[in-house]
Amino acid sequence: MGKRALINVDYTADFVADDGKLTCGLPGQTIEDTVVALTKQFIEKDEYVVFAIDAHVEGDVLHPEAKLFPPHNIIGTPGRNLYGSLAEVFETNKDKNNIYYFDKTRYSAFAGTNLEIKLRERGIEEVHLVGVCTDICILHTAIDAYNKGFQIVIHKDAVASFNQAGHEWALSHFENTLGAQIR
Ligand code: ZN
Repeated sequence: MGKRALINVDYTADFVADDGKLTCGLPGQTIEDTVVALTKQFIEKDEYVVFAIDAHVEGDVLHPEAKLFPPHNIIGTPGRNLYGSLAEVFETNKDKNNIYYFDKTRYSAFAGTNLEIKLRERGIEEVHLVGVCTDICILHTAIDAYNKGFQIVIHKDAVASFNQAGHEWALSHFENTLGAQIR
């Protein structure tokens, strides 16, 4: 088996908390324990753990999401904080060499970031995706991972969306079209 990395996508207050600006609500909150357990597992095995977190600038009218979604994950607001006990796990471990937190500005964690370079440097062949939303940022990240030749593992109890139909469609797309393993 090739080396693995865990990619944590957008598990922040704005996407998960009851008062989040673009929240998945209960489905997002329900996956907390699994997201945290997987994150701890990868950290304990000294495997690479990535936090790819949406970052928007207030009033950025040129951003394509400005026409589609209410403002969310604005830099400098508590909405960008990691949700629930994931925040504590990150705080405790953030200085370790195998932890990499970065801002992303598009759905895909690969778009305009150095994620691919970081994964290639480490010889990583398999990416495990957790977080939200299944049919938006997880989906776009998975598509880029597929096109770049990474094996994909989706933990179905560690992804969620505010759109249940979209969530289910995306799970079948990961498996049937991107060749992902669903666990
Ligand atoms: Zn966004």
